[in-house]
Amino acid sequence: MLTCRGVRKEFGGQPVLADLDLTVAEHEVVALIGASGSGKSTLLRCVNLLEEIDDGVIELDGEDISDPRVDPDRVRRRIGMVFQSYNLFPHLSVLANITLAPRRVHRRDRAEAEAQARDLLARVGLADKADAYPDRLSGGQQQRVAIVRALANSPRLMLLDEITSALDPELVGEVLAMVRDLKADGMTMVLATHEMGFARDVADRVCFLDGGRVIEQGPPEQVLGEPVQPRTRQFLRRII
Ligand code: ADP
Ligand code: MG
Repeated sequence: MLTCRGVRKEFGGQPVLADLDLTVAEHEVVALIGASGSGKSTLLRCVNLLEEIDDGVIELDGEDISDPRVDPDRVRRRIGMVFQSYNLFPHLSVLANITLAPRRVHRRDRAEAEAQARDLLARVGLADKADAYPDRLSGGQQQRVAIVRALANSPRLMLLDEITSALDPELVGEVLAMVRDLKADGMTMVLATHEMGFARDVADRVCFLDGGRVIEQGPPEQVLGEPVQPRTRQFLRRII
């Protein structure tokens, strides 16, 4: 579904992604791990066309989305992205946050968009929060609403960037449970995480980024349990 080939991205002449290759199959869950600054967020942002790449190709469903002639909005309609800081609009209710893009971008009518939003909220146990404003919700609830908002666009692919990093430890579980449910539903996901337990639990494949490249990848038990590359071993030793 997603192919990155020879992707290069520089900031101020410094390569952040260097000849990076990554493929993601439909229904696959891929976890990106690596030291802070290794390029995980940049890669996700490039896939969502929030950054322009300097070389290489990114294909989604066989279409070259890195072609500068491609309309980024049209691509982003197929991708849901969730960030570390939930980025909900504080002046809009939960329901309005979720229905904004479906109504404006997908041109769904209000009743239809709201019915879908209420259905999604009910499925994640937040039915009673539809009319609340974000500041009335816990961090975990806000992040779950942010995930629901991304799902409301019926994306083909979800990109999750350290979505539990800003949460108090006791709120992490409810967000991770939601990601597990998405996986069970067959959602294709690429997630950057520093939670190795979560990567082991939810990912079909773990990719270790170092120096702007994927230098090791494989099933979680292999990459996290018996890494081959010295750099991967060093990274895992440091964080455990
Ligand atoms: P990670 O998510 O793995 O921690 P990032 O992708 O955020 O890594 O960052 C990779 C490198 O790119 C870092 O050195 C960071 O400072 C740099 N970087 C990211 N975004 C920008 C930007 N907009 N301008 C300049 N440098 C950036
Ligand atoms: Mg990051």
